[in-house]
Order: sequence, then structure tokens, then C-alpha cells
Amino acid sequence: MTLVDLRSDTVTRPTPAMREAMARAEVGDDVFGDDPTVLALQARMAALTGKEAALFMPSGTQSNLCAMLAHCERGDEYIVGQLAHTYRYEGGGAAVLGSIQPQPLSQDARGQMDLADIAAAIKPDDPHFARSRLLCLENTWNGRVMPHQYLAEATALARRHGLSCHLDGARVFNAAVADAGPDAAIGDVFAALARITAYFDSVSVCFSKGLGAPVGSMLCGSAALIARAMRVRKMVGGGMRQVGLLAAAADHALDHHVERMREDHGLAASLAEGLAGIAGLKVRSVDTNIVFVDVADGRGPDLLAHLKAQGILATGLIGLRFVTHLDVDAEGIRRTVAAVREFFAAGAPVAATGRAAGPY
Ligand SMILES: *Cc1c(COP(=O)(O)O)cnc(C)c1O
Repeated sequence: MTLVDLRSDTVTRPTPAMREAMARAEVGDDVFGDDPTVLALQARMAALTGKEAALFMPSGTQSNLCAMLAHCERGDEYIVGQLAHTYRYEGGGAAVLGSIQPQPLSQDARGQMDLADIAAAIKPDDPHFARSRLLCLENTWNGRVMPHQYLAEATALARRHGLSCHLDGARVFNAAVADAGPDAAIGDVFAALARITAYFDSVSVCFSKGLGAPVGSMLCGSAALIARAMRVRKMVGGGMRQVGLLAAAADHALDHHVERMREDHGLAASLAEGLAGIAGLKVRSVDTNIVFVDVADGRGPDLLAHLKAQGILATGLIGLRFVTHLDVDAEGIRRTVAAVREFFAAGAPVAATGRAAGPY
């Protein structure tokens, strides 16, 4: 029985063609700045996001951390969603390592903070307050695409008050693919990406999620910001050596795995459609490759166990999360819908407790 792993789009394994690209990669010592494959990927990502410079990172968490520490000084604060990755899911890194205070705000179902709340949270220059320095947004957020109007208004508001803007774009390629529409060619997707990143001073992009590379993220921004981020990256142990092996995988993904994200979005839509008619659960949202489902009567953990017994993996507790990616196909989605249907038809007993899982 093939495993259908819907826990996250991080679970993809490099394809044979990606492994070949990695094996062929020219490498050097990137801490000395002479890994040609890394330098080429950094230049490519800077161009794609419309920024002066870019820096290859081992993870999205480190990329966001380096961005926050490059934007902010000790005693500054960043305004961020209560459920944003840069606040909730990064071990408090900005506070722990940068003495940067988060100012979390509640978000609506699309992940948007109210503009009036943002305005009210920006502090005047007064020694009582931390210095409001940075606005962090996330796109996609829980698989939801942020509307351009919101991106434009929120970042303009921040700028009027002298704040910089950072985008946690771990899944920004999913947003670009969705923005570009169903018939878009790769150039159209790249253009959609640039329209999103144009609102921001810095953007962090993951290669290890829907793009299907094994490791790696990229922080893009001004040359001055990237120079500061490079100091932080070294400080937190992210200076890597012959890392062109990984940059080659990311470069391969940019050539071959961007347009195909549409297939992931299509499979997520068909999963949502298949689940929509089943009594006992409610599909919350699906814009891109993530389907959230609310399960009634505390039966989420039992449903997860039922799926697991059939070789289908997902995460969650009350709200279950199913993520489509490169290594999931239509047959896997068909099996998932059938297994969920079977669970509710059988009327399995009400359960038990479990542990909440975050958006990894
Ligand atoms: C996965 C993710 C990250 C962090 O990526 P890692 O490489 O796992 O550290 C950051 N932000 C968002 C929104 C993510 O989904």
C-alpha cells in the first residue's frame, strides 16, 4: 500500500532529475563566497523578487530570523499576526536572540490583521514604548492567498509610519501560481511573484515546501539589509560550505516545479470537493494546496488514526490539515476521500485527546 502523506508539503523527496542536477553541481566554499551555484541562485532569486540581493539559508525559520534581526535593533518591535509563523512557530527566536519584542495582533479567517488594529499598535516615539520598526505579513497564510489590495494597504500604512515590511513567503510561489490563474505560463507566474514581493522590503521564500527541494530558503532584500542578514546568519551557525549541492536542487525546482504547483492546487480542490458532502465535517477553506477541515464531536484524533491505519497521514486535532504536493496523486486523493467517507459511515466512537500540530 503506497503511503499518502498529506502532513505537509515539506515531506517531498527529490526527484531523480533533481538528484542528477545536485550531482552535477559545481561547488565552492560559500562562506568564502565562491560557490558558483549558490551565487547564481542568489542572483536569480534577487532578480525574480525584484530585490538587489539575496542570501541562501538552511531553513525558512533562519531566513525569517535573519530578516527580523537585520531590520530591527534591540528594543524594537515587530507587528505580526497572532498565528503567524514569525510569531508563533519559530521558538520566539526574534525575542530570544534579538531582544526584539513581538506585537501580535488577531487575524481574520484569511490571516489578515485589521488595518485599524495595525495603526493602533504602532507606538509613538516615547520612552515608555518599544520602537515600532517592522510589519511582518505571510502569504500564503494557512494556504490562503492574501488579496493585493490588502498587501498594498497594509504595507502603505506601515510605511507612512516609518516601518519596514517583511514577507514570510515560505509558500509565496503557491500564491503566485494562484494569482497568475489557470492558464499561466512560467513567465506569468514569475511576474505574479514580482507583483507580490514589490510591496515588501524583504521576502523569505522556501524551496523545501511546494517547490520540492530537500533543503533551503532564500532571503531577498536590499544589498544593505542582506549584508546585515549575512552577519546574523553566521552568528546563528548558518554559514554553509559546499552548499551548491542544495542550491542546484532549488534551481532545478525553479525550472521544473513552479507551474506544476497548479496540479497540487487542483488536487486540494478535488479533496475539498470530495469531503464537502460528508456529514460530520466541514471544509473550512481551500485556495491553494492546503485543505482545513473542522471535525465535529471531538472525532478528529480518531479520524486521523483511522486514516493512518490505511496509510494516509494528515495532521491536526479539531481542525485537520491536508496538504497536497509533488508526491501526492489523484489516486491518493481518491483513497483519502473514500477513507474519510468510510469513517463517518461506520460511526466510530467519540474519542479521546491528542496533541495539536502546527503548520510546519
Ligand atoms: C514552513 C514555514 C516556515 C519555516 O520554514 P522551515 O524551513 O521549516 O524553518 C516559515 N513560515 C511559514 C509560513 C512556513 O510555512
